[in-house]
Amino acid sequence: MPGLIDRLKSGEILISDGAMSTLLQGMGLHSGAYPEEWNVTNPEAVASVYRAYIDAGSDLICTNTCGGNPIKLDRYGVASRAEEFNAASVRLAKQEAGERVLVAASIGPTGHLLEPLGELPPEAAEAAFKIQADAVAAAGADAILFETFFDLTEIEAGIKAALPTGVPIICTMTFDANGRTVMGVDAATAARALIDLGANVIGSNCGIGPDAMLPVVEAMATTGAYIMVQPNAGLPKVVGGQTTYDVTPEQMAEYAKQFVDAGARIVGGCCGSTPEHIAAIAKAVRSA
Ligand SMILES: [Zn+2]
Repeated sequence: MPGLIDRLKSGEILISDGAMSTLLQGMGLHSGAYPEEWNVTNPEAVASVYRAYIDAGSDLICTNTCGGNPIKLDRYGVASRAEEFNAASVRLAKQEAGERVLVAASIGPTGHLLEPLGELPPEAAEAAFKIQADAVAAAGADAILFETFFDLTEIEAGIKAALPTGVPIICTMTFDANGRTVMGVDAATAARALIDLGANVIGSNCGIGPDAMLPVVEAMATTGAYIMVQPNAGLPKVVGGQTTYDVTPEQMAEYAKQFVDAGARIVGGCCGSTPEHIAAIAKAVRSA
């Protein structure tokens, strides 16, 4: 099967997946625990989430490795297991994906602010991302997905770490309802910076619902780059101690068509998005 870039070049619209950790929490993962351990200790649960999204129509699934960089894992005293957790998650995903479905290895932020705002030197972030990027590349990832980043300096460290692997790089950043990162960078500026740094696909995930993400997609699409979009299913509301999201699968599907019309080429969901949301998106986009 052709790889990610060839499939995008051919004009295909790819459906990605929805949330991972909320589904794992439904299977007993404690909310204070780190989901990456389950790639090794409960692989069947992780595989069942991959399968649920593939069955719902995903063309591209994201691995259970968002918090799998050694700096983030160090919080739990398991930094030295980063390669193991990342490789296991990609191998599991590749097994479920078969020939048709692409596997994007998820890499999220370190959880620390980089210099000069924070204390983490960019070189230290790059070294941590390199461990993760090398592990997922060696395990056969079809793409490396830097997601939920809000700081261009930190995502730059990630891109630099991943470029030598030769694996296609997707970068999606998180914006607020005003279309800016928490650092104050607008979507069009972020888009141009990510392209200049060497990203193959750019876009946005998390933070906001589909309504607020539409102008972000429109701003990024002015660059002509391949765009990936994964909004939350609305804004989180805590009801009776449970976090809920109120955008329905049908509503997400309507927005998905608007994202594609605005130029998006990979469409899925983030927090609060379930296999039902992905099934509705796949149906709407494929029949449009
Ligand atoms: Zn999210």
